[in-house]
Amino acid sequence: MTELETIRHSCAHILANAILRIWPEAQFAAGPPVENGFYYDVDLAHRISPEDFERIEKEMAAIISESQPFQREVITRDEALAMGKRGELAGLTPRSESSRFKLDIITRIPAGEEIILYRNGAFTDLCAGPHVADTSKVAAFRLTHVASAFYQGDESNPQLQRIYGTAFPSAKEMENWFAMLEEAKKRDHRKLGKELGLFHIDDAVGQGLILWTPKGAVIRQELQNFISGELAKQGYSQVFTPHIGKIGLYKTSGHFPYYKESQFPAIPEPDQLARIASEGCGCAEMTARLEAVSETFAASLNERAGKEIVAKERVMDPTRLLDGFMLKPMNCPHHIKIFASQPHSYRDLPVRLAEFGTVYRWEQSGELNGMTRVRGFTQDDAHLFCTEEQVAAEVQGCLQLVKKVLTTLGMSDYRVRVGLRDPDSSKFTGNPAQWDLAEQACRDAATSLGVPYTEEPGEAAFYGPKIDFVVKDVLGREWQLGTVQVDYVLPVRFDLSYTGADGKPHVPVMIHRAPFGSLERFTGVLIEHFAGNFPVWLAPEQARVLPVSEKVADYARKIVTEMTAKGIRATADLSPEKLGAKIRLAQLEKVPYMIVVGPKEEAAGQLSIRSRQHGDEGVLAADAFIQRLESEIRDRTLTV
Ligand SMILES: [Zn+2]
Ligand SMILES: [Zn+2]
Repeated sequence: MTELETIRHSCAHILANAILRIWPEAQFAAGPPVENGFYYDVDLAHRISPEDFERIEKEMAAIISESQPFQREVITRDEALAMGKRGELAGLTPRSESSRFKLDIITRIPAGEEIILYRNGAFTDLCAGPHVADTSKVAAFRLTHVASAFYQGDESNPQLQRIYGTAFPSAKEMENWFAMLEEAKKRDHRKLGKELGLFHIDDAVGQGLILWTPKGAVIRQELQNFISGELAKQGYSQVFTPHIGKIGLYKTSGHFPYYKESQFPAIPEPDQLARIASEGCGCAEMTARLEAVSETFAASLNERAGKEIVAKERVMDPTRLLDGFMLKPMNCPHHIKIFASQPHSYRDLPVRLAEFGTVYRWEQSGELNGMTRVRGFTQDDAHLFCTEEQVAAEVQGCLQLVKKVLTTLGMSDYRVRVGLRDPDSSKFTGNPAQWDLAEQACRDAATSLGVPYTEEPGEAAFYGPKIDFVVKDVLGREWQLGTVQVDYVLPVRFDLSYTGADGKPHVPVMIHRAPFGSLERFTGVLIEHFAGNFPVWLAPEQARVLPVSEKVADYARKIVTEMTAKGIRATADLSPEKLGAKIRLAQLEKVPYMIVVGPKEEAAGQLSIRSRQHGDEGVLAADAFIQRLESEIRDRTLTV
């Protein structure tokens, strides 16, 4: 338990203690620390609601002010059972009812393990600890909400009230935390996305499927243009591939059926589907026939891999096999087939194929969340095919790209995690010397980036080490974005080769990289990071001209035409509203520049500039302002 978790868990004891002072009959189950706080599960006839919080918190404050020491005590199983029967575990005094959940918990403690009590004041709980020295160390706390939960998470068990709270080592830290939560609520990309008209999710289309509205599409297109430009500088080639592929492709890659829980089911070929339907074939059989492979297929894949990766149970008589398609869960096999479509010499390598490739994954509906957890998303994907010697430089190139993009977006606070192989050698494939090389390449690349990184043994993919990016937004919240992964397995499975300097065939190494994960998720994160105030180069509408009256409408139109001709996204608000109302609306819609024009400005060929960030910026010649705006867009400046 971390120090903060210890404070929070100790606060759970204080909560139980306080509840017992008010409702002595309350029965308690478990009270662990959780992310951002703690809870305690309580069984009580009275339904605790937020209206009760003040009263409970008052008792908690009293217990804290009493500075009750937490005292540890080891007792025998018999003593524990006797105390439980007297209702003294998670109790204040002997009670007529036994501490029934605690008694059950005792039966779950393996024989031979110590049974530990912690006491503070009159309150005793069965708990292994640790806790703070005394109750006063819980300097700041607050109850937050109530939920319900089944005992041990089992629906056949009684339903309990789960009281959540949080605690901090100081009042200041708690204040900051709640202020951050408040701000996060305002920035919620689902709320802002709706208010600013950036994207839409429609039940009729399907949950988890993002409809990019014109304004959101501008942001996506700008991001794509920016990333594509950087990729071109790094020698990438752009490719396009379809959204589906034949099922055999994913059997070869191993994506199917091993990850079928997270995929949309396979789509059988229409004529085969019609035939088996007429034969009365059931769904279970159809699935089995789609998932199976022929003897030849299994033999050739196993031979390439040098071991049995397709089990005998999956082999079926070829006449019974069904063919079909998958909505692609990954772009890799498509890119592999582009690489394999031509012979390669070592001189051609590395080959870097990039695609904003859309993939589909089956997420449980409860897991879906706005743009950040979806069922269809477009990865900023690329696959690099290189020699072993080139791995280090290529991984480094990937990281440099991430650095450039994040810095441009004002996200300079991020870290990387280097996932290394499991020290248990049975859990990874490939040869250890290759792994050593690739792991060192990842470490070196992370070091060269000059940002903090951690090494995480056991976090590699089974086919090679990887690097994950974790970005901190302006509120200090961490977002896991995409990865760079080194892969020795797929090139073997797909029988890829290039001709080496020695004139012999060699297997290339593959690097998968989607550093921003997906455009959906990344855009969701950016909406929250900027609170909808996109820098001018990303803003769906970059400037809005606000004529003070109908008389200058033509001048307003002329300015818009000039800006549009320069590629600036500008509109004019020609409504009969007063200027104040026009400014308020533009502010609300977070337009970076508001350009006020009246007869005076028209006569002088000038513009009155208001920026979203600084308000009134004075009068500028129209040409001068348009030039300034152009350069801000071209340089992707963050200030507006
Ligand atoms: Zn405890
Ligand atoms: Zn891939």
